[in-house]
This record gives sequence, C-alpha cells and structure tokens, in this order.
Amino acid sequence: MYQNPMAQGAAALNIDPKLLKDHFEEFYEDVFEEFSQYGKIDAMHVMDNLSDQLVGNMYCMYEDEEGAAKALTALNGRFYAGRPIMAEFSPVTDFHEARCRQFDEAICNRGPQCNFMHIKPLSRELCRRLRIEPPSTGRPKGGDDRGKGGGGGGGYGGQEGGRDRDRDRDRHDERRSSRRDEERRSERRDGERREERRSERRDERRSERRDERRGEPAAAPPGPPPADSGAAPPPPAQ
Ligand SMILES: [Zn+2]
Repeated sequence: MYQNPMAQGAAALNIDPKLLKDHFEEFYEDVFEEFSQYGKIDAMHVMDNLSDQLVGNMYCMYEDEEGAAKALTALNGRFYAGRPIMAEFSPVTDFHEARCRQFDEAICNRGPQCNFMHIKPLSRELCRRLRIEPPSTGRPKGGDDRGKGGGGGGGYGGQEGGRDRDRDRDRHDERRSSRRDEERRSERRDGERREERRSERRDERRSERRDERRGEPAAAPPGPPPADSGAAPPPPAQ
C-alpha cells in the first residue's frame, strides 16, 4: 500500500531526505486517520523493505478484533493511490520478533532486501500530530517479550484467509502460519513444544496476551510496484 519512492528509482535521483520523509509522513498520517475510523489503533507499521514479499506492506494492529474485522471488510475492494488494497488478517502479532533489530540500529547489512521487517521510524512530530506514543524499538507495550525465534524471515505476511476469527486468534499464538494445526492442539494440551522454546513464564504471558484481545489485519500491496515510476496498474479489465 505504501508506494516507497525507493522502489521507484528515487535512490538514483538524490532526493532531499526531508522530502522523502515528508512524503512518508503524509502517507502515514493519511492512512492512520482513515484506518482509525474502524477502531482504536494500537500500532501501525509501514515496511521499508524492498523485497518482493514485503515491499509496500503495512500492518495495523487494532486494540480489538472488531476494529480489525471492520477494517478488513471496509478496505478490500477499495483503492489507494490508484491501486487495489489487499487486506488480510496477519499471523504476525509479535512485531518485536519479526522486526529487524539491525535496521532499527541502522546497521542492517542485508539492506532493503532483508526478510525481517524494516519498520519505518516515525518522527516525534508525527507522533504528536497523531497523538500516538512514539514507538520504542524496544519491547512493545503489553510486555509481549516471548522467546526469540530469530529464524525464518518468511514466516509472516502469509496468505491467511482470515475468515474465522477465533481460529485466527489461535493462530496468532503460533508465530508461524504453517505447521499450526497439530501443533496448536498439542500445545493446548501440554505446551511441550512451547516449553522447549520458551521459558516457564509461558503461561503467564499467554494469559496476558489473551487479555489484550487484539486483532490485526494487514493491508498489503497488490505486489511489487512497476519498475518505472508513477503509472499505477490499471484495475482488472472488466
Ligand atoms: Zn534487516
């Protein structure tokens, strides 16, 4: 949804960074206000990655599932800046884990093709205008500091149907969208696998997370933007 100028040749143009920042902040503000209509937003992250599966993606976490569901329904079928919006529930609930910490420290040597989330930073002024807390790059609020997986850059942004919200929430307990079903059942029963990966504080955290009752759709772009700048792809012919 975010049309990153860097995906459209801006890097070669030597554009004033201030203009690029303004461009991004206008986008963010616009979308944030639009998305706020559906519910209270907990966090909204725009990806700076240029890799195929993340370019233009953004994630909006609502305080409750109603907000997420409303947004999903309202956004699909709409267009933004001439392109169709493709919204879906996201299996990512733990942004802290999926984000690239090296990018946060400006030392990611994988660059824009990195498979971890390169979350565009928000300026203080922008946060003030939108009356949101400046996001820290540390622990997300809610204390969701589950064990670090570290691996599998491609585990998020998968094609989730997003129809069944309850099932979806259970899925959220799984960080990865695949291998969920059997694992989910056995986890419920005895939590063994979790035990392997995480500390004994698991149960405590799980219930904390339950209490938070969050839902989150992600608005994804239709795909990589065209190589040349400007022209949006035409909507389907008929
Ligand atoms: Zn990175």
